[in-house]
Amino acid sequence: MFSRLRGDFPILRARVGESPLTYLDSGATSQKPECVIDTFTEYFTQRNAAVHRGAHTLAVMATDTFEAGREAVANLVGGAPNQVVWTKNATEALNIVALGIDRASHGFGGEAAQRFAIGEGDSIVVTEMEHHANLVPWQQLAQATGAQLRWIPVTDDGELDLTDLETIVDETTKVLAFTHVSNVLGTINPVAELVARAREVGAFVVLDACQSVPHMPVDFTDLDVDFAAFSAHKALGPTGLGVLWGKAELLDALPPVLTGGSMITTVTMDSAEFMPAPQRFEAGTQPVAEVAAFATAIGYLTEVGLDRVFDHEVELGRQLLERIAQIPGIRVLGNAENRIGTVAFDVDGVHAHDVGQYLDSQGVAVRVGHHCAQPLHRRFGVTASTRASTYLYNNGEDVERFLTALAEVRPFFGLADTPAAEKAQAS
Ligand code: PLP
Repeated sequence: MFSRLRGDFPILRARVGESPLTYLDSGATSQKPECVIDTFTEYFTQRNAAVHRGAHTLAVMATDTFEAGREAVANLVGGAPNQVVWTKNATEALNIVALGIDRASHGFGGEAAQRFAIGEGDSIVVTEMEHHANLVPWQQLAQATGAQLRWIPVTDDGELDLTDLETIVDETTKVLAFTHVSNVLGTINPVAELVARAREVGAFVVLDACQSVPHMPVDFTDLDVDFAAFSAHKALGPTGLGVLWGKAELLDALPPVLTGGSMITTVTMDSAEFMPAPQRFEAGTQPVAEVAAFATAIGYLTEVGLDRVFDHEVELGRQLLERIAQIPGIRVLGNAENRIGTVAFDVDGVHAHDVGQYLDSQGVAVRVGHHCAQPLHRRFGVTASTRASTYLYNNGEDVERFLTALAEVRPFFGLADTPAAEKAQAS
């Protein structure tokens, strides 16, 4: 099945110079199947209008499309459609929560919002493996409110070190924000254990689901998180669209940060009342074509089956890890048991950008740099790494082409002999 569906992705037929394209950068953004691309043309040729305004036929069709997309997301990740807020991307979704709490802490949103208020003496907890999108907004919130920012450290194996969980997450903790899956290490974090601790102390749980929703079955209601965020573009969908998912009563109480048209009930010259969620967070003209395309992407993923996607990627990841270990001079970051098919590594003596350029010369697309996770790289004693991330359209041939090119990297840079670290160990 997986070898057949590769043909659904036109870009995978592309060549990079003389080489076939080997795309192993889906952790950054996924490629799109033809049906998702076609949805744009179909939407703009047959259904295009602004939503929630106007009584004409196209406006009704566009609104139906927009709301059907919400239902598709709810079917994918659990909850009801009114728990699904459209955003520009996951970064915006996480900022809406952090900035909403900031506003609540400064008296906005009335009595209902006071449950979110934090200040001096309170703490916000994140982890050392966060993408900057789920770190910087919480740093900003801590600075704006006087709350303390704490973090759960990462072990050498690239797992969360929960030894001191009870003291890091304590009675002062108002928010526990963490990633479901590390975008660098591929580690799948123990959501249930973290949520259980948050419940004991009454903290809100915010889950960064960017690297889980595209790759495995995820149900936010079952996970019992309060808020969650992910981006459509990593899950076969278009850029420019993300999801903020939340418990309905919390979304209705959280003050919006973007205000203006389409999110109000009554406006006077000096005041405004806001609609309930999800509309209270959707100010301005909305990305309807993107929603239509994402609904198609969700349909595609659901038809393949996210449990099968997960198994397929785990198997590719296993092959990558096993074979990378046989190439001298390469250190994989982390060694978690429970992981998706994402592998980040350091090549002894060659900067990640040079690794990336050599691989690109062989048609292999990978991510290089800090992957928006500088603290995690610092934890592993490097400033940058190379990351290969798989998705449902990758196959054994991609793995082979990548490994062949990777084995050539150190010899290409004149470093064919035993790497420095291994020499030091042997002596
Ligand atoms: N969180 C994680 C774990 C990610 O991998 C990413 C993207 O790489 C983000 C957040 C931010 O997603 P976006 O850039 O789509 O807002």
